[in-house]
Amino acid sequence: MSGDGSLIIVMRPDATREDVDHVLARLAEVDAEAHVSEGTSQTVIGIVGDRTKVQQLPWEAFPGVERAVPVLKPFKFVSRDFQPDDSVVNVGPAKIGGGHFAPIAGPCAVETRDQLFASAAAVKKAGATILRGDAFKPRSSPYAFQGLGEAGLVLLAEAREEFGLPFVVEVLDPRDVELVSSYADLIRVGTRNMANFSLLSELGRQSKPVMLKRGFTATIEEWLNAAEYIYKEGNHNVVLCERGIRTFETATRNTLDISAVPIVKGLSHLPIIIDPSHSGGHRELVAPLTRVAVASGADGFMIDVHPAPETALVDGPQAILPGEFADLMDEVRALAAAMHVEV
Ligand code: PEP
Ligand code: MN
Repeated sequence: MSGDGSLIIVMRPDATREDVDHVLARLAEVDAEAHVSEGTSQTVIGIVGDRTKVQQLPWEAFPGVERAVPVLKPFKFVSRDFQPDDSVVNVGPAKIGGGHFAPIAGPCAVETRDQLFASAAAVKKAGATILRGDAFKPRSSPYAFQGLGEAGLVLLAEAREEFGLPFVVEVLDPRDVELVSSYADLIRVGTRNMANFSLLSELGRQSKPVMLKRGFTATIEEWLNAAEYIYKEGNHNVVLCERGIRTFETATRNTLDISAVPIVKGLSHLPIIIDPSHSGGHRELVAPLTRVAVASGADGFMIDVHPAPETALVDGPQAILPGEFADLMDEVRALAAAMHVEV
């Protein structure tokens, strides 16, 4: 098997189950791995296998086949060619993508029950549908606060019960995937781990949805390849998060690449959200970058909200106050209405 032997077979809208099975049987005969995606209008079959054997077959002569499209890009299952319809990712009761907008908010790190609950209560009241808060922090200095570990996951689970909010949390190490997966509703891969392929594959083999942040030095193609690592293992619930890239500019922590939203939407069916907190790195930038995110057509955003940023153990300078988040959500609803999106 080689990953580059890529072909997508698009079935006609009126193709029958038998037509699809006939194609799958033929693929099995040439030892190709088929991946079936049933969209609302058409079934599409993605194939990984020996390029010459698969492409030699006269697919367009098969009953029910509309066309066979060679895929030149290195990523395939996450591409729009493979699945023309937007993916919708379910995170507990919340949905992201395909017209479902997800406001995600909470503290950067879980510090104490009081801190987490104050933030969770506020963001829930303001209209967030998913809580953020980390138990494992990737810190530049090994001496900085590294997170509460499992005790943080326990507090997040308690907050979920108390406020009815599913939560997203980062995992840093493939050895922690099972533990984090047993608590989380959505597991995040941070910018520093975007190209940690063993972590990505491990996440592809568990059942919780995954949020994949863009590596701060990654191109969009590298990022979509990273998503493919998760998707191809069988986990199709992947959400992308643009969080800024490293440029020569020093006024911001990173440069938010807003063009990534329309570009990714053209290339991929996966939902994409924006992190205005970790890209800008300053609280004054959070509201403007959030407005831009909504107007860009992103499927959501993730914002650091802390009840007392001056006491925060991580990322205090970029956290906004609960009241500021509530005001921002009012603006977001107005902007989203102009974009015909419901928040
Ligand atoms: C975060 O969201 O807390 C975080 C560490 O972000 P990033 O991986 O984008 O730096
Ligand atoms: Mn942070």
